Amino acid sequence: MNQAIDQILAFDKAHIWHPYTSTTEPLPVFPVKAAQGVEIELMDGRKLIDGMSSWWAAVHGYNHPELNAAIEKQIKQMSHIMFGGLTHEPAVQLAEKLIDMTPEPIQKVFYCDSGSVAVEVAMKMALQYWYSSGKTQKKEFVTTRSGYHGDTWNAMSVCDPETGMHNIFAGSLPSRIFVDQPQCRFNDEWNPADFNSMRETIEQRHEEIAAVILEPIVQGAGGMWFYHPQYLKEFRALCDQYNVLLILDEIATGFGRTGKLFACEHANIAPDIMCLGKAITGGMMSFAATLATDDVATIISNGYPGVFMHGPTFMGNPLACAVACASIDLLLQSNWSAKVEQINLQLQKELAGLAELKTVKEVRTIGAIGVVELNESVNMEQIQQQFVDAGVWIRPFGRLVYVMPPFIIHPEQLTKLTSAIVLVLNAST
Ligand SMILES: *Cc1c(COP(=O)(O)O)cnc(C)c1O
Repeated sequence: MNQAIDQILAFDKAHIWHPYTSTTEPLPVFPVKAAQGVEIELMDGRKLIDGMSSWWAAVHGYNHPELNAAIEKQIKQMSHIMFGGLTHEPAVQLAEKLIDMTPEPIQKVFYCDSGSVAVEVAMKMALQYWYSSGKTQKKEFVTTRSGYHGDTWNAMSVCDPETGMHNIFAGSLPSRIFVDQPQCRFNDEWNPADFNSMRETIEQRHEEIAAVILEPIVQGAGGMWFYHPQYLKEFRALCDQYNVLLILDEIATGFGRTGKLFACEHANIAPDIMCLGKAITGGMMSFAATLATDDVATIISNGYPGVFMHGPTFMGNPLACAVACASIDLLLQSNWSAKVEQINLQLQKELAGLAELKTVKEVRTIGAIGVVELNESVNMEQIQQQFVDAGVWIRPFGRLVYVMPPFIIHPEQLTKLTSAIVLVLNAST
């Protein structure tokens, strides 16, 4: 057994790239044998409580019998079939569910393979919308600093220019308009000055702006920052006034994570184009969707060339659609809202004390997300090992130690996560 582990690790180290990792000096990786519920089982037999939901995705935990059954049932019908000229029940059922659960103006569904592709598709839709409207000068995109929208070319162009390392790609990466990050926190009193940077930009440059793209309420990988719903409200009004499309990237926030099904509900607004991904299949496989209003779809379809110019090979993959349907059913039938609220209260209570540490800048929570922001970046190799030794899977980045556990986590398991954070951060003080 140990020899097998050694061989796997040696080959992995010699040949495989992991996310954001060096091939010559890779950080250690831990080989996983299986995952069940909220537990990840390593090949050496150790079991870790999962604090990451595999990057926002596995909201129902792992190896869920109903999700497995949905895939097994579909695989006997067909795993995949091209979507050009053909359609199928799982794609139709999923679209019905998505249209039903998202804000009312959202009526059209475009299936994609991953979150980054959903963002590419959204940006392309916005450009084609203005092209079809005869306003070809509207081709700029605006976003806030500290955002994250994925790793493909256009998605990367709207990520925070510093953490997105735009300087490396300067000259070949399209340049976008960046406005200040919203500073007013989710629970603070609204400060209208927070919107100035965005307002001025739109007022001055709306004739060249196609769309604004934002992560609603929670900026995820760009800094785990929670901003005020009024920002989005102001924003929707401004976009309407100046004819700018609003793209909301709900890839991380969608499907209950922030305490609402979709984070735009905190502000009671609807976008023109909406990106969904991550938890859409309950973490079972890569899949995403870009949703749009009738207006967006109709304008594009009425213009030249009369079609939306995109069509991935695995568009509308039946296995992904079937498991997404099952995952949404599970979510809506569960008392997810109470569960998320309970996770939130427990995170608040059990992490609050950390704010006293001099290494800690701030503790904040929203929905089923808990964040401890430190004053300095963590030592990844060391802290990762400490968390594994403490029996949990928590993967910090930069100055952020955070958890977003599967919604099915039991209070004792969540306490295990929070105690591990308390233990590890106290030890490093
Ligand atoms: C993860 C993420 C993406 C990219 O999704 P991938 O499936 O990794 O391509 C885009 N936007 C947001 C907000 C994300 O959190």
